Amino acid sequence: MAASQLFLKETRDSYPKGRVSIIGAGPGDPELLTMKADRLLREADVILYDDLVSAELVGHYSALKIYTGKRKDCHHFEQDAINEEILRQALQGRKVARLKGGDPFVFGRGGEEIEVLRKHGIRYEIVPGITAAHGASAYSEIPLTMRKVSSSVAFCTGHPVNKIQVPDADTLVYYMVASSVHDVLDAVLKKGRSLRTKVAIVQNATRYNQKIFTGTIQELREREKTVYSPALLIIGENICQFIEENWFSKKKKVLIIGSGENSYDPLDCVTVHLPCSGEDDADRQTFMHCVATIGHYPVVLFSGVLAARHFFSSLFSSGKDVRHLGGSKILTWGNAALSELRRYGVVPDLAIEMEEDALLTKQLRENGITGTTVLLPGSNYPDVSLMRAVEAAGNSCAPLAAYTYGFRENEDEINLDFIDEIYFSSPSCVRNFHTLYREIPGRTTLSCADERTVLECVRIFGRTGPDESGM
Ligand code: SAH
Repeated sequence: MAASQLFLKETRDSYPKGRVSIIGAGPGDPELLTMKADRLLREADVILYDDLVSAELVGHYSALKIYTGKRKDCHHFEQDAINEEILRQALQGRKVARLKGGDPFVFGRGGEEIEVLRKHGIRYEIVPGITAAHGASAYSEIPLTMRKVSSSVAFCTGHPVNKIQVPDADTLVYYMVASSVHDVLDAVLKKGRSLRTKVAIVQNATRYNQKIFTGTIQELREREKTVYSPALLIIGENICQFIEENWFSKKKKVLIIGSGENSYDPLDCVTVHLPCSGEDDADRQTFMHCVATIGHYPVVLFSGVLAARHFFSSLFSSGKDVRHLGGSKILTWGNAALSELRRYGVVPDLAIEMEEDALLTKQLRENGITGTTVLLPGSNYPDVSLMRAVEAAGNSCAPLAAYTYGFRENEDEINLDFIDEIYFSSPSCVRNFHTLYREIPGRTTLSCADERTVLECVRIFGRTGPDESGM
């Protein structure tokens, strides 16, 4: 080996093996993540993530996830403990992704985290994120600078209250103001700004539940309004640009229960998903037992995209591939399940197109699938009408929870007050939703993937369209 190569190798080996990426996740909309952040999150062994990072976003990656936020009811990490945990993970040779809301270097304590890494000689890189001020500015259509109106902007913090600063800039953006809006306004007035100065509060910027209040300092001071975190306070004449009906507020906010990403055009709609998860929460032991003994199930029927997706992802993560299903007949019900299976290279023995109970029973009989046990991968809420249709052809059913619906410990419920439409992709989704929420606000439109789902909606909620009763 040449001396220079030897030298290079030795230098490399003298580093501890792990490496850390400090990544900005952006302000909320998962699509505001950078491509680089996405790649590093896909490659990571462990993701340590903060409060402001959406659990849905983190759920897309297969790494071990550690929540380091500070919610009530949850064990919470102090900054020192976070630094220690990052270090501990890296020293074990892992690829660590430290995921932070917005940008790591804007009120993000990213600086403190790299100090520890520098001290211990750990390799790291830093990936910038879209900071909340930029997200709020774009999604509320309030430019931070504007020719002739504002030619400077300052990012400030409203916390701690005794350290509030008022720099001499045309536009001021205050972070961390949920409990200190009035203190910030007092400080700004003291600095000589008039009571007629324009202000805007942007809550949950870039998210489905973004809410904006605009007015003058005077108007805001008269209103004893609670400001919910996360929120930003923007101060300056640039707020004159604000319009009620902006490009983001105009979009229809749709809650998708089950799978239905492709049913809505992102140009007109913002979609949010009722959370569901696979490996972590579904009864993993039962699932793995089922996979191990799959030979006992002569028939496996896939009736939905999510069931198929979670089933195969668990199968693959247990080190097996599709050959493991070789001894079973594979059936699909509905085109969505069929195309999902094709993604794994699986062509079903029987594909039933129409999602209609009677047709399913008929096709099972005609194809000699009777007197046998049918494995039904689905959610933690078995699809009762599907089971009835399978049983009507003389079979017994083995429902399998391949994934679980529900909110994670550290996750906010979806606030239905902001939702214009709910989309149900199957009857079991209607039941899942009902278990979690019990009712739907009257103004919300309902939309269903097929006839069976419409019937379930009518049975449970008494309607499919908007509530006409005036509630
Ligand atoms: N590093 C982050 C800021 C962390 S400090 C960034 O660059 O954005 C936390 C504060 O950020 C919150 O109190 C709030 O003021 C602001 N913030 C973060 N996300 C927000 C959002 N989606 N909408 C409004 N404010 C947000």
